[in-house]
Amino acid sequence: MSVFDRNSRLVVDDDQELLALIAELGKRNGYAVLTADTGASFKQILSEHQPSLVLLDLQMADMDGVEALRHLASLGSKAEVMLMSGMDHKVLATARQFGLSMGLQMQAAMQKPVRIVELEAILARHRGERSPLMPEDLRRALDEYELTLHYQPILRRSGHAMEISSVEALVRWQHPVRGLLYAGEFLPLVERENLMTELTDFVLNESLRQVGHWHARGLRLGLAVNLAARTVSDLNFPDRLSRVLQEYTVAPGSLCFEVTEAAAVGDLKLVMDSFARLRVKGVQLALDDFGVGTSSLTQLYKMPYNILKIDQTLIGEMLSSRQAHTVVSALIDLGHKLSLTVCAEGIESEAVYSQLDKLGCDCFQGNYLSRPLPAVALENFVREWNAAQQITSNLLVG
Ligand code: C2E
Ligand code: MG
Ligand code: MG
Repeated sequence: MSVFDRNSRLVVDDDQELLALIAELGKRNGYAVLTADTGASFKQILSEHQPSLVLLDLQMADMDGVEALRHLASLGSKAEVMLMSGMDHKVLATARQFGLSMGLQMQAAMQKPVRIVELEAILARHRGERSPLMPEDLRRALDEYELTLHYQPILRRSGHAMEISSVEALVRWQHPVRGLLYAGEFLPLVERENLMTELTDFVLNESLRQVGHWHARGLRLGLAVNLAARTVSDLNFPDRLSRVLQEYTVAPGSLCFEVTEAAAVGDLKLVMDSFARLRVKGVQLALDDFGVGTSSLTQLYKMPYNILKIDQTLIGEMLSSRQAHTVVSALIDLGHKLSLTVCAEGIESEAVYSQLDKLGCDCFQGNYLSRPLPAVALENFVREWNAAQQITSNLLVG
């Protein structure tokens, strides 16, 4: 009889090269990978194993993805299922919905061609079924400095050159047992436990200390920090902020707060009051993740934002969907008409980057340019980038 294997991945694809590569990744990184290149081998493996993650190609010669999903459901599979396909994103979304309707644990689908770094991150991060994170874990993390920050560079058009003008601080939890956890994995717990103020204070202190240190060593980088709803409507926050800025001698103009619409809809008077005080201090404000959820155009002109960040879902779909492309193009124009700086996030390929460049986007962010990095790696990345720019501009001049 098969038992649920908390740490095994099954990859189903008729692309032999991809299977060999993933098996090699597994060997190198120490996790089990099962591979199937036909429908028959897929069913055979499932009669002996219960993997905790299934990566599934939607189109195989002898079995389509829907049939495979039906088979997994008939076995009562508890695996996380991730679809991969070169087909239109709408087909992927429909197949995913189908899996959900049958009670499968469907994850976000992956468009082909898959990027190996992306795949490696997914495979490495997956560690099977886990018990939930506990509040006492989180308190310990705050007390014992298990939280850390990664910084993702943001590229800005500057004449003919592209310069790294700023970084976005993204919080991580270096968990002693689970390894590095991303923000999305533990922020809901932070909210539930009422610890957002503590988390924000940590992020602000740590990121401003780091940026102050970079400035002192000649690395002029702006800093973007995400703010949660609770902080946005906390009337004491602007004063707390002034103290931290002074402590690390960072000019307010170097700092930008990123706020999602959901965070800024609470008590509008309070939010407006807080935003106005922040802008008067010289801090910049970005409307984050614009274009998904309940995007309201009213916020765009009523609130004192100066940066508009287009959500990564829209950016990710702009090459496969003409409609998404049109929306991105219109948002860039709209942003410019409202005198906003427009930033695209979640850029994962050269093709998307050059499209956005053609459309006149001002700032660029995403794994194609660089993933979020620890401070030292970020500093090296920026220095190498600047050196390469210097060489290019010398060549242009000379
Ligand atoms: P966000 O502010 O929109 O940040 C961008 C997220 O997209 C980050 O995820 C980043 O790692 C990820 N990302 C960047 N480039 C790419 C790409 O090319 N492809 C894909 N697929 N993803 C990319 P992360 O770090 O897990 O953060 C998720 C969200 O959690 C953030 O979304 C932000 O809303 C929130 N967050 C992160 N750090 C903090 C924090 O310090 N405080 C608060 N309140 N929220 C935070
Ligand atoms: Mg953000
Ligand atoms: Mg965002």
